[in-house]
Amino acid sequence: MNDIDEILAWHKQTFPEFSSRNQETKLNEEIGEYHAAIDTVIETGLQSDLEKVREELADVIIAAINMMRYPEIQTLVKDKMAINLKRTWKDGRHN
Ligand SMILES: [Mg+2]
Repeated sequence: MNDIDEILAWHKQTFPEFSSRNQETKLNEEIGEYHAAIDTVIETGLQSDLEKVREELADVIIAAINMMRYPEIQTLVKDKMAINLKRTWKDGRHN
């Protein structure tokens, strides 16, 4: 399994010119592909289409991990996690 550092190193090497805005666009595209794949599997019920959903989910996760390459995004996540840590959670939701 690739660890997060390996994914980030691949991203830096493969897309050296990418800005955080470029990567945010990529993340949004992958989310769109994931939703489209879900719509397709609902329509067809095919195992091969379900595998496509799982692949697109992996793309979303990889794209989100690669957002962490950028210091401004690291700050964004750090600040939001500080809020999350202070919240109380029940059944996967905060009060
Ligand atoms: Mg994709």
